[in-house]
This record gives sequence, structure tokens and C-alpha cells, in this order.
Amino acid sequence: MTTSARTYLVRTFGCQMNAHDSERLAGLLEEGGYVAVADESPLADVMVFNTCAVRENADQKLYGTLGMLAAEKEKHPQMQIAVGGCLAQKDRGEILRRAPWVDVVFGTHNVGALPVLLERARSQRESQIEIVESLEIFPSTLPAKRDSLHSAWVSISVGCNNTCTFCIVPALRGVEKDRNRDEILNEVRALVADGVNEVTLLGQNVNAYGVELGEQGAFARLLRDCGEVDGLERVRFTSPHPRDFTDDVIEAMAQTHNVMPHLHMPLQSGSDPILKAMRRSYRAERYLGIVERVRRAMPHASITTDIIVGFPGESEEDFQRTLDVVAAAKFDMAFTFKYSKRPGTPAAEMEHQVPEEVVAERYVRLHAFTQEIAWQQKKAQIGREVEVLVSAAPGRKDEATLRQSGRARDFNLVHFECEERLRPGDIATVKVTQAAPYHLVAEGAPLVIRRTRSGDIWESAQSSPDTRTFLSLTPRP
Ligand code: SAM
Ligand code: SF4
Repeated sequence: MTTSARTYLVRTFGCQMNAHDSERLAGLLEEGGYVAVADESPLADVMVFNTCAVRENADQKLYGTLGMLAAEKEKHPQMQIAVGGCLAQKDRGEILRRAPWVDVVFGTHNVGALPVLLERARSQRESQIEIVESLEIFPSTLPAKRDSLHSAWVSISVGCNNTCTFCIVPALRGVEKDRNRDEILNEVRALVADGVNEVTLLGQNVNAYGVELGEQGAFARLLRDCGEVDGLERVRFTSPHPRDFTDDVIEAMAQTHNVMPHLHMPLQSGSDPILKAMRRSYRAERYLGIVERVRRAMPHASITTDIIVGFPGESEEDFQRTLDVVAAAKFDMAFTFKYSKRPGTPAAEMEHQVPEEVVAERYVRLHAFTQEIAWQQKKAQIGREVEVLVSAAPGRKDEATLRQSGRARDFNLVHFECEERLRPGDIATVKVTQAAPYHLVAEGAPLVIRRTRSGDIWESAQSSPDTRTFLSLTPRP
């Protein structure tokens, strides 16, 4: 397993924030001389787990994986195991008690400490645990090894000032910290210079961006500023909160050429009493009002959401209200979750926890219903011309079917036929001929193919092993 340079593998559990933090962890390790393990290998000299604590099954997954690694560590004592992210911030010393063969535990606020902690664990032959309570430096100032050459995440804020009663994020990620606007735009410009043509602005509550800086309307302004960046084809963002969603954001989306017509806006529940108990300070009517205004301003916008089923006290009637909102909002896709009790959150202490079998039965109904609505939405796209940005990760059946895959402007996944091999980052305009619940199909040759600079950069990276690692260093302040 050990070659001249020590190898590493970062495994990510959880959301885009974690995936983005993992790019930083990989960047830091590469800067420290480690090399990524070959794709097919499940083991490396340094195994890093970037964990999630939002739902309980993430805990079980991590401890199960660590359990399996114990035997490997016996066989390869030089192997180091590091655990970071939300679960590390939550469980702290508990991780070392349950898995004493772990070498390093670090939290959500000190991602940058990983190389030093690994080194210290090695020299002192002792496990290291370092959890700090607030952000040391904004993670975007750390080097990153990006997963994709043409598409990048840009963090605009970290943490969250909301207090949703089911959610453990504020306890683990702290209060919201907004990043300076010039720094964000400098990063976007640097990424575009590196070959990126799509960015996704990331934050737990992106449209609260600017509150900490005392700037009203700052998120809408940021979207418009991204519209001025030459060569940036697509701008996305996740996640906005319905409470803070103001019409200036809708206007900025509709009027900025490269901001994509897609809104991922978590609903959580369609029942007003449940929203109140969740401490989500909007009601179903307000949510549907936003959806209506977005669709009026951008008739072909897609709207996707997150929904929790089985929150404490949820009655069949409350659940029906959620189904009503799903029908009225006509979601293009919904991530559905069974409520998961998170110790330390107010909802965990609430009376009337919904029995597991009731949650499971509602979950199946909700899933089937959201899937049916999503399919109807997709069927309405048949015959439409859509512009697809070719993705780096091919579709499962691409090879067998000679198809290529990517995302349309509205974030729908499209598999399309094309004899010419396009490169990730290239853009094809295709006509939709079939729809499935989770994707669209375009048969027949593309109507237009645009080979982009991002595609050129991807191609030259393939032929030059030195640049295949896509190491992108964001300038430190
Ligand atoms: N900040 C975003 C927002 O305001 O909705 C979401 C962040 S959270 C990491 C992602 C999703 O996980 C949430 O939208 C919610 O649907 C789900 N989630 C969070 N806590 C949960 C819990 N205790 N049980 C089930 N799902 C949960
Ligand atoms: Fe959690 Fe609510 Fe903050 Fe989203 S807005 S991260 S659900 S507390």
C-alpha cells in the first residue's frame, strides 16, 4: 500500500458543504506532499472521514466503517485514520472511546489543522483530538483539490443563525459568518481563469447573506455581480430559506443572464402548526407565494425542495397539508427525509414523537407522490430544446447506450445521444424526447454543440499527468 509518497483517501458523508470541505482537506494534504490513492483502492496510508450528523443513520454508517477498519489498522500500523466534520464536532472524545484506533479527531471549525494533527499523532504515537468552538479561518482561504474542473462550489457563508427545532447544524457549525463580497468575487474570477464555467454559491441560508455585514439586499447584488464575470456560464446557489426570500432575489435571478432558473428551497412541512413547531417562521401560503412569483418571472424555472416526514406531533391531517403543498408547488424534485431525532435539539424533547411505523408508511406515500409530480413535470419538457452542460461524471448507462449526460439550465439531468465525444464543460443544445421521474432523454443528434474553454482545459489536463490533479490554490489573504 505504501509508495514513496504517502497516499490519502477522503470519504465524505453528508451535504455539499461537507463535499466542499473535503475538497479543502484534499488540497491541504496534497500541499503537504500526500498523493491521492488510485481510484479503485478502498484503502490509503491516510484515511480521512468527513462526517455528517444531520440524521442518525450517518452516525451508524461512520461507526460501522470505523469498526471495519480496525482489522486493517492491525495489519498496517502505519495507516492513519482521521475523523472530521459535524459528527466529530458532536461526538468529540466519544469517537476515540468507541474507536481507539482512530489517530486524529478534528472539528468543523479547524479543517486547516489536519496535516499538523496527523504529523503530531505520528511523532507522539498518540491519538490527537482538537475541536475548537468557532471558526479559525474561513475555509475558502485553504487550498482545494476540486472534484470537477469545470464546476466549483464557492462558500459565501458558514454557520446558521436559525434555530429550526429539528436541526443540529447551528450547534455544530456555529453562528452565521458571511464572507467578504470582494473575496467571493475574487475567488469566482480565479476559478473562471482556472477553467471553471459553473459555480454554486453555498451557505446554510444563502439569502441571509449580508445580514452580518449589515447590508440589505446583498445576496441579490452578489448574484448580479456574478453576472458581470466574463466567461462564467452558470451560477447556482443552495440553500435559500423561505423566510428571508425577498423579491429582489427573484428579480436578480430573472434578470441576470448566467443565474440559472432553478430554485432549491426547503419546505420541510406543508402544515402551518408543524412549521411553527419546527420554528420555521414562514407558512405554507408564503412558501407557495414565492413559488408563484418565481414561476411568473421565470416560466421554465424548476423548483426543488427538502421535506421532513414524521416531525413530532405530525397528524395525518398535517401530513395531508404537506401533500397539498407538493401538489400546488409542482416540485421538479424533492429530497424526502424521515424525521431523525437529534439529541440536544428541542424537537428531540417534544411530546408526541410519531411511531416509526407511521413515519415509514407516510414516507412511502410522500416519496411516491413527489415522484409522480416530478415525472409529470418532466413529461411537460418533452419537445423542448434544452441547453446541457456536459458533466464529468457519466450517467450509469452512458457507455452501453452511447449517450452523454449533463445538467440542463434548470438542473434537470439529461442523457443525450451524440456521436461526437464531448468534454466535461462543453455545452450541447438538445431536444427532449423522453422523460423519466429523475431524468430526461434526448434522442437524435444535438441541435448545437459548443466546445468551451472549460472543455479545452479538461482535455489538456487529460494528456498531462501533472495537471490531472486539478490543484487550485485560492490566494490566501
Ligand atoms: N439550511 C438548509 C435549510 O434551511 O433547510 C438545510 C440544511 S440541512 C443540512 C439539509 C436538510 O436535512 C434539511 O433541509 C432537512 O430537510 C434535513 N434535516 C435536517 N435535520 C433533520 C432531522 N433531524 N431529521 C430529518 N431530516 C433533517
Ligand atoms: Fe438547520 Fe434551519 Fe439552519 Fe437550515 S436554516 S441549517 S435547517 S437551523
